[in-house]
Amino acid sequence: MDSLLRKKIENGDELCPADLKRLLLLENQEDLQILYQAAYKMKLRHIGNKVSLRGLIEFSNICTKNCYYCGIRKGNHAVQRYCMTPDEILAEAETAWKWGLGSVVLQSGERSDRDFTDFVEQIVREIKRISNGELGITLSCGEQSEEVYRRWFEAGAHRYLLRIEAGDPEFYTTLHPADHSYHDRKQCLKTLKRCGYQTGSGVMIGLPGQTVDHLVTDLLFFRELDLDMIGMGPYIIHKDTPLAVQFPDFQQKTEFQLTAALKMIAVTRLFLKDVNIASTTALQALRDDGRELGIQAGANVIMPNVTDTSFRSSYQLYQGKPGVNDAPESGMTDLKKRLDAIGETILFNTWGDSPHFRKY
Ligand code: SAH
Ligand code: SF4
Repeated sequence: MDSLLRKKIENGDELCPADLKRLLLLENQEDLQILYQAAYKMKLRHIGNKVSLRGLIEFSNICTKNCYYCGIRKGNHAVQRYCMTPDEILAEAETAWKWGLGSVVLQSGERSDRDFTDFVEQIVREIKRISNGELGITLSCGEQSEEVYRRWFEAGAHRYLLRIEAGDPEFYTTLHPADHSYHDRKQCLKTLKRCGYQTGSGVMIGLPGQTVDHLVTDLLFFRELDLDMIGMGPYIIHKDTPLAVQFPDFQQKTEFQLTAALKMIAVTRLFLKDVNIASTTALQALRDDGRELGIQAGANVIMPNVTDTSFRSSYQLYQGKPGVNDAPESGMTDLKKRLDAIGETILFNTWGDSPHFRKY
């Protein structure tokens, strides 16, 4: 890395698109350590040595969409479909609350029928009620109308995750069928912000056909939309998907993808500074300590899975998802130990809002 660029990242200066690209192209171990350390310093400056947790509840794998990369796409008939009952969801939210997780993420496949939108609204209200309004609620249930986003917000959800998946419109079309619209998805992100949600988006990293220029476009997209939260993780092959069939020779290059994902996390932290960045489960799928490495590269949020283990094997967005059989409790004790070992403290019983959102 040349000394000028090094100085820039160590001082936390503004980065231009050419800088972003040069950082994403770094390969040498010494340079990568300088990058991760600069990003971690930026995290310390804006967030401190703190990690926020969200209990992830994957409440339904029924999906009306057909994204080419996803294991629970509508066209995959090998998946056993489920939707948890309100009692099952509430029990999991209560567990998260008792463990002091402070907030939950309700994630599912995408449906826009009235039964579903009413169901989600009701669940949000109930979670608020049983936790005396204390549990924060993030939704991740795909593209919806403004009216639905407003209803869910009024019921008590205050954050929403909707990954753009690929910031470049042309690249987006290679990952989705023709009736999935980049434009609509981008509009949804704008609508979510207008409704008052802390809004999160992100992309997969290491997709077949993805270039460094695509990743720079992703970073510029995050800034353009002025997002509060970013969630990114490696793309992991699921054999029963069109993307796996279309690229039979595409191998999971674990080391390469792990480094690419860590670089993206670090550069996002340096570029956007005060946003929440998730260290995702998909990182852990590549390497046992993947989530800790994500934190050390600048991420500050971890989403432990609190979904009952009996449902987990049916919510395989990708293969080799970690913790499919783990009891949630053991996962928590383990996580505490792991974060302790890298000098990070868990923020219990807080929503862990994005400092970027609080400023505005
Ligand atoms: N249906 C909602 C939420 C569930 S999918 C939605 O699509 O927004 C949540 C995320 O899983 C997606 O945004 C996608 O980025 C990720 N995902 C899907 N398939 C994946 C794969 N094969 N590898 C890694 N991440 C994947
Ligand atoms: Fe459905 Fe989300 Fe998977 Fe797309 S990524 S197929 S919307 S669950």
